[in-house]
Amino acid sequence: MRLVTFAADRGARVGLVGEDESVVALDDVVPGAPATMVEVIRQWSEISPRLADGDVRAVAGTPLDRVRLLAPIPRPARNLFCVGWNYADHFAEGKAFRGSAAPQEVPEHPALFSKNPASVVGPDAPVRHPGRHSSELDWEVELAVVIGAGGRDIDERRALEHVFGYTIANDVSVRDHQRSRHGGQWFKGKNFDTHCPLGPWIVTADDIPDPQVLAISSRINGETKQDSSTRYMVFTVPRIVAELSVGMALEPGDVILTGTPSGVGFARTPPEFLKPGDVMEMEIEGIGVLRNTVVAYS
Ligand code: MG
Repeated sequence: MRLVTFAADRGARVGLVGEDESVVALDDVVPGAPATMVEVIRQWSEISPRLADGDVRAVAGTPLDRVRLLAPIPRPARNLFCVGWNYADHFAEGKAFRGSAAPQEVPEHPALFSKNPASVVGPDAPVRHPGRHSSELDWEVELAVVIGAGGRDIDERRALEHVFGYTIANDVSVRDHQRSRHGGQWFKGKNFDTHCPLGPWIVTADDIPDPQVLAISSRINGETKQDSSTRYMVFTVPRIVAELSVGMALEPGDVILTGTPSGVGFARTPPEFLKPGDVMEMEIEGIGVLRNTVVAYS
């Protein structure tokens, strides 16, 4: 099942995307359903049994191309949790660069950092070039995990039971601010405004029983830059959920970005960085395509 947040006359609403590629407002199918995705996630065990197929088809939908989608969780309640260096090939391409935060060997535990919830934007929303602040704007396609049932010290063997669903993230990065400034740590270079496109929807976990078999790729202006599979993650989704929850409770609606494969701009020969007008398409098998355009700094 695909769940969206979309712009409506009276603010954002949660919707379902049907097989006919039309959007139905959730509360037209389930009267009284909450209007925010995080509340829908919290109440999912009561809502989902009421979503009989016949009921959804009985409501006239709006074609997807006439609906303005927002990020499925437009403003997460907490920082988005991120894993650095989670594909061996991306680790290898980053290791070669001086000033990089990459450790010398693939670590025993995932490298963790976070993105500010205010950096989230939806599908088709503009991503702002850093202008005079940097010429090193880069892309990173990532599988994003949405937590359903929260918990602390989650057992890796049961971690997928805590996953509500999956979406796509673009961990847009300002490389010089990430690598050579600010102590060589990630926070600043990963948190410029608009630098966390998310969407276009959440696919519920029942439709993605194994998150480690998905093709994952990115295109810039139609040209493939990254082309891999989630099978090459160093730390699997269950491992990441387990490690993140050590001593820190995860909550419904938390979003976890699981790292990017090789083929990002800074590691290409010669390096390639984004400029205003560039179109970024991030694609993951079983989810879809997240498309955003770079605009000039303002
Ligand atoms: Mg990343």
